[in-house]
Amino acid sequence: MDLFEYQARDLFAEHGVPVPAGEVVDTPEDALAAAERLGGRVVVKAQVKTGGRGKAGGVRVAAGPREAVAHARRILGMDIRGHTVRRVMLAETADIRDEFYVSFSLDRGNRTFLAMASVEGGVEIEEVAARDPSALARVPVDPAVGVTPEKAGEIVAAARFPAEVADQVAAVLRSLWEVFVAEDALLVEVNPLIVTGGGRVVALDGKITLDDNAAFRRPGWAALREGAAADLSLVSLPRAWTSGSRAERVAHLERAAEAKGLNYVKLDGEVGVIGNGAGLVMSTLDVVARAGESHGGVRPANFLDIGGGASAQVMADSLEIVLGDPDVRSVFVNVFGGITACDAVASGILQALDLLDSRGEEVTKPLVVRLDGNSAERGRRILSEARHPLVRAEDTMDGAADRAAALAGI
Ligand code: GDP
Ligand code: MN
Repeated sequence: MDLFEYQARDLFAEHGVPVPAGEVVDTPEDALAAAERLGGRVVVKAQVKTGGRGKAGGVRVAAGPREAVAHARRILGMDIRGHTVRRVMLAETADIRDEFYVSFSLDRGNRTFLAMASVEGGVEIEEVAARDPSALARVPVDPAVGVTPEKAGEIVAAARFPAEVADQVAAVLRSLWEVFVAEDALLVEVNPLIVTGGGRVVALDGKITLDDNAAFRRPGWAALREGAAADLSLVSLPRAWTSGSRAERVAHLERAAEAKGLNYVKLDGEVGVIGNGAGLVMSTLDVVARAGESHGGVRPANFLDIGGGASAQVMADSLEIVLGDPDVRSVFVNVFGGITACDAVASGILQALDLLDSRGEEVTKPLVVRLDGNSAERGRRILSEARHPLVRAEDTMDGAADRAAALAGI
């Protein structure tokens, strides 16, 4: 789970990392009082779980409370890389003399933890590393030893931080490592870590990714998760997601599915797959991949298991995710009715298409549906009587896979 900047900032503060004072609001009206409390001159920052807010116009400095309100009004509701801004953080402005980058993360490839640091912060660190790999120091951290004063010194030296701030940066690194361990994080990143005109080192922007595998021992995370779903702008997905990198789109689709409680994994192909039961969905992937060989090599676009007691609502949620994936050219719905009766699934499909249509989403991708088991007969009748131009029922799994692959074929 990724945290919002303001949530990361709170955790930093708890562990002694210097951060600017700030407040979070969700209306322009509330921005006024908050700006006054913060001394008038503030920076207004979009709270969305994606980077590049500055470039997108989501970070603006206000000279006084009235300007802060105007900025809040412009930023709230904005779309940044497919994320709708529901909240803004107002923070004390900083007088920036220098911008650095520091992070701790899990380095799966090397089976260790990794500190990364650079004196070229404030910009996207991937760009810095691509342009000049030597500008980004990488220092492994042994979790059994942690970030001792010696390790912090090693990181500071490797990144060549200026001598006059070396001690402050080292102290920040030790506190950030404490955040990393104490909060069960997979990533703790500060970009930029700034030096103020007065020579103070402050974490101006933070990102934390928590390790979901630790959720069972973290009852407090439920509160952090709250509002996470509000970050997603599903209605505008198909359009918004055609921009941005592939990794971003994948992360966004998977997060949207997670917020809806769906078991979804994005894959590389063109045929969207929705089924009930992990085993059935896995074999559906195989059947689609094989059928695809005779249709230009199309492959499954995703794994999506709607589970046992799947309702019409779950079907609607699933179709919304799968149809929102720009890679998908056709969809194969493969359901074996057990606890879920097939007539409920059939109605769910039709309701979902109506819902998307009523929202002005132009659904143009064909659906191939195979229903078997409990109430299959009734389910098929519901579909055939609806005569929906995009929905086609097939009797067998192989036949349906072939049809869906043909529809997705080039
Ligand atoms: P990001 O674009 O999503 O990474 O958002 P950041 O919080 O990192 O802000 C982007 C950039 O805005 C920073 O690198 C700073 O250069 C600038 N910025 C943020 N806060 C302040 C501030 O208080 N004062 C000034 N002058 N610039 C700021
Ligand atoms: Mn940043």
